[in-house]
Amino acid sequence: CEHLICATGNYARQTGALLGLEIPAIPILHQYWITEAVPEVVERKRQGRPEMPILRDEGFEGYLREEGDGLLFGPYERTANLKLFAEDGVPSWFGADLVEEDFEAVSWNWEQVLQLVPALGRVGIKANVRGPFQMTADELPLMGPAWGLPNVWLAEGVPGGILWGGTIGYYLSERIVEGGNSLDTSDLDPRRFGDYANKAWTREKVREAWGTHAEQK
Ligand SMILES: Cc1cc2nc3c(=O)[nH]c(=O)nc-3n(C[C@H](O)[C@H](O)[C@H](O)COP(=O)(O)OP(=O)(O)OC[C@H]3O[C@@H](n4cnc5c(N)ncnc54)[C@H](O)[C@@H]3O)c2cc1C
Repeated sequence: CEHLICATGNYARQTGALLGLEIPAIPILHQYWITEAVPEVVERKRQGRPEMPILRDEGFEGYLREEGDGLLFGPYERTANLKLFAEDGVPSWFGADLVEEDFEAVSWNWEQVLQLVPALGRVGIKANVRGPFQMTADELPLMGPAWGLPNVWLAEGVPGGILWGGTIGYYLSERIVEGGNSLDTSDLDPRRFGDYANKAWTREKVREAWGTHAEQK
């Protein structure tokens, strides 16, 4: 083939190793909860009012938004409580699976959010959704040429599918087809980390970056 694009999500370190590349990304485990119907949300809908904006607040370190007739709360795990996934390779049982809830990891966030939005605590929980996705030391994807391998391209370390999918699809194809990008994408260049970005370094920086990005400054 003329070009090879690696876009293997949680398998990035393994597929990179097949090509002799140490990919500076590692999966973290994140989770959110969805509540049963919240009367205030139901009432807003009955009145034909628009969906409420997402609430992100340093006070509870997370995001809160409408989901169906209820609310969705996604707390950011702090460094000490953040769990990584597949540090030594994705286990064979893993497909696109979710894993068991870990309330303890974010009990602090729950205490805080319930003070700000008591309605969240007046209804039951419908679902917990917890799973792994890739993270890098600066929380940005690795998009662009692989180092030392002509015509091998990376779309790895993608920490958000909805957030980044369109951007990466567009600009990586543009780069390959046109030979360059119509805007500066160097912040995403996979070569921005040096040889120091081994697994131990990436593990620590990922935990630090995700675990502190919502902290009060
Ligand atoms: C709980 C949770 C909440 C999330 N919330 C959001 C959110 O609100 N917004 C958002 O934007 N994102 C969110 N995400 C993240 C999002 O799911 C991921 O960022 C996104 O799926 C990454 O896409 P990807 O294509 O890089 O990897 P993936 O979706 O993992 O796809 C990679 C594919 O490559 C395949 N593959 C691996 N190795 C090989 C190989 N050797 N050969 C061929 N194929 C291979 C895999 O089987 C897989 O199908 C969330 C994730 C979780 C778990």
